[in-house]
Amino acid sequence: MKKLNLNENFISRIWRDKMYYKGLKTTDGREVEILDYGIVNKDSGADYKNARIKIENSVFSGDIEIHRSLRDWFLHNHKGDGKYNKVILQVVFWDEDFPGGTSLPVVMKSREIPTVILSEFLTKSIHDIWKEIINNPSKDFKLPCFPGNEKIDSAQKKEWLRNVSMKRLNYHSVRLNQRLEFLEEIDGSKRKKCNWERIFFEYTLEALGYSKNKEQFLKFAGKIELEKIRKAKLNIGEIESLFFGTAGLLSNLKYKDDYIEQLKENWEKIKEKFKPETMNKAEWNFFRLRPQNFPTTRMAYAVSLCREMLFSGFFRRAVFCFEKSKNTNKDLTDLFLNLQVSEYWRNHYVFGKKVNSGIKSIGADRVHEINTNVVLPLMYLYSGLFDKSDLREKVTDYYFSVKDKSENEITRVMQKQLGIKASSISESQGLIHLHNFYCVKGKCDDCSIGKQMFKKESNPGVLKIILY
Ligand code: SF4
Repeated sequence: MKKLNLNENFISRIWRDKMYYKGLKTTDGREVEILDYGIVNKDSGADYKNARIKIENSVFSGDIEIHRSLRDWFLHNHKGDGKYNKVILQVVFWDEDFPGGTSLPVVMKSREIPTVILSEFLTKSIHDIWKEIINNPSKDFKLPCFPGNEKIDSAQKKEWLRNVSMKRLNYHSVRLNQRLEFLEEIDGSKRKKCNWERIFFEYTLEALGYSKNKEQFLKFAGKIELEKIRKAKLNIGEIESLFFGTAGLLSNLKYKDDYIEQLKENWEKIKEKFKPETMNKAEWNFFRLRPQNFPTTRMAYAVSLCREMLFSGFFRRAVFCFEKSKNTNKDLTDLFLNLQVSEYWRNHYVFGKKVNSGIKSIGADRVHEINTNVVLPLMYLYSGLFDKSDLREKVTDYYFSVKDKSENEITRVMQKQLGIKASSISESQGLIHLHNFYCVKGKCDDCSIGKQMFKKESNPGVLKIILY
């Protein structure tokens, strides 16, 4: 596992969220249960006061200390410091020790303090946890340059945001390009339409997954052989069988109806022909999602997208929205909004449960996100690789001029603490990129705001200041 340079506030944020780890054990193999996390201590001494934990069959009350690595107890000079006498558990993220030495056991007043190495018990990769946490800054989040940046002219800030927003557009395009190059290497071809359609399909599905099923949808899309579907000229019912079956969503269904029976029957035939690698139903998240975001609803939409992509030139029509349209934003949005799911999914969120009201399979907000994170970078890449300068100009015009009414935790907090209001997609994207790639990485030295505010030698340890 690559050791990210996480600061203690960040590790604390992981520690406080049980969802990120399970099956905790001390370094000597004893099971640990957290009964009470205690209270965050903002003064000197251990990080959490009055916590309660159970180790094997014994309950302990006292303090918990969080560290980046095993060596920190000694590097921070806690040994012999009375303020740490009540520590009942040391939580370290990495098992990094002194070169050639050992930091265990930690002993205070002849008492061994149990240690947990948190990175060994994570429920998902640290990179995924990192992404989730930085996308949801806590209420304590504070930029190192706040409130001092008020003195900097907002036109200068906006100019810098424009610059950063282009880095973000490039960043997204590079990601798509890497996938494109990979696909081109596999089939030994260059610039084939089917590979463009494939990346369009894959990353749109990722965006359809919303926050809880993004990875699942990307994984799923990677298992679908679009060209095989095209050659076999599958109809919508057959594509639905292939999609729901591959996703594992046809297994253990509680309900029965004609549609489900037909889908299962098709699936038996199709899986013989396509031999897809299937997913497990348990991989999909339904919990705490609004029904319109359920993987089943989104999957039905993915089927329609697939059909339009393979049999109705959806990719070409998206390019036309930039090249020919007088109102790109409207036409592009309509292109996605007008995709029709099959009849069953117009009144079902899940298998077997009919609802009376007509279901809107996708909303304008989701389409806006797809346009921002998939269509724009894709068109930017496409126009660059095919040397279509007019198209590229239209793509960047769209990026800089289309209003962005959407907000998320990052844009909200960044707008507030930088004292600016994002008025276009590019400005919102610039704020997100600035936050993710400069602020939380402590790169104030590379930021035009930071350069004006912090003299090199007095640049604060920014990662210590930003609170998660
Ligand atoms: S990177 Fe720039 S905007 Fe972010 S905290 Fe540092 S100075 Fe402020």
